[in-house]
Amino acid sequence: MTEPAATLLVRNVGRLVTCDPERGAAPGVVEGGAVAARDWEICAVGTEGEVAAHPLAADAVVVDAAGNAVVPGFVDAHSHLVWLGERSDEYAARAAGRSYEEIADAGGGIRATVAATRAGELEELVAAARPRARRMLRSGTTTVEVKSGYGLEDQAELRQLAAALALGQDPELPEVLTTYLPLHALPEGDRAGFVERACTRGVERAARLARFVDAFCEQGAYTVEECARLLEAGRRVGLGGKLHADQRSRGGGARLAARLGAVSADHLEHAGDDDLAALAAAGVVGVILPGASLVLGGPPPPGRRLLEAGARVAVATDCNPGTCYSESMPLMVALAVALGGLTPAEAVVAATAGGAAALGLTDRGVLRPGRRCDLAILDTPHWLDLGYHLGANPVRTVIRAGRVAAAG
Ligand SMILES: [Zn+2]
Repeated sequence: MTEPAATLLVRNVGRLVTCDPERGAAPGVVEGGAVAARDWEICAVGTEGEVAAHPLAADAVVVDAAGNAVVPGFVDAHSHLVWLGERSDEYAARAAGRSYEEIADAGGGIRATVAATRAGELEELVAAARPRARRMLRSGTTTVEVKSGYGLEDQAELRQLAAALALGQDPELPEVLTTYLPLHALPEGDRAGFVERACTRGVERAARLARFVDAFCEQGAYTVEECARLLEAGRRVGLGGKLHADQRSRGGGARLAARLGAVSADHLEHAGDDDLAALAAAGVVGVILPGASLVLGGPPPPGRRLLEAGARVAVATDCNPGTCYSESMPLMVALAVALGGLTPAEAVVAATAGGAAALGLTDRGVLRPGRRCDLAILDTPHWLDLGYHLGANPVRTVIRAGRVAAAG
């Protein structure tokens, strides 16, 4: 039987980081490697010689990695990418000693973003988020989860989701998965009615535009009971569950995520070891957001603690205008090492295969035949630079779904 010819060959890879557990110790490195794909799908991974044995189409695209390292495309499993408004003054005020609460009382904080975002048209939302999404792709992210949460009421929330989906249609931006996050900022006025609408009409409408439902389970935000009601309502219309859990206090979010069998529980800085063990037992992925941990201070992101509890770990940007304005997964890998106690190998796996797990995706995150051909060619032969070279963008070329999406 003749194998179908490859349409893409990435050759002359110094160290090919597959993140495939079947290739031995993490992160599954092949020395002197290559990858071939047919259309969007990887058809061969291995040494240069092994992959060269695979037939190549006459018009195939051949990319020379020039001895540099290659990693799977990053899967950023937690972002708030679509927003309008400007909060750099507020960031400076916080640095000068004003608290998040003082700023919120003065009309700043998340309410400022809500006011600007809910007033925006779809095209404005897309235009504002596009350069952020492009920076994500240029730093190696090939899949990103994008949440609503700055609209509050139905129409503005749905517009945020529609804007995120529009971005994902562009082959030069990351693929987008969307999450309906109606319980984020608190509403003005009738809280019970607001939660009721989110759990009924909200989830029913969002089911057409989103894959997950999420809530901010925290003192000063939404209670365990409110979040449980939303996630259960989401499950009835086919939305997987996610939670912002135990970020600023130990509020029962991780326990709730475990009890409801959520796909992921995110933040977790204040979760106890027994909470993390409950996540592990329930198969819930723990998503650490070390950029937000760094900006807000407080306990470190619990990367090592999650692994010791036996849980699956993902690392993501939390890209948002208040607590982490960063699109960079390489920076998050570095912070997961410096703050979260992960080894560089564990951090790279958390940023790729871990991110895929946190989105319930089994078709990406590792370089293996049959998976999506999403990968980043670095500008260095040392994949360890991802955890070591702070603040640089070590990504030169990005392949999304078997096609060159950014070339350095
Ligand atoms: Zn978040």
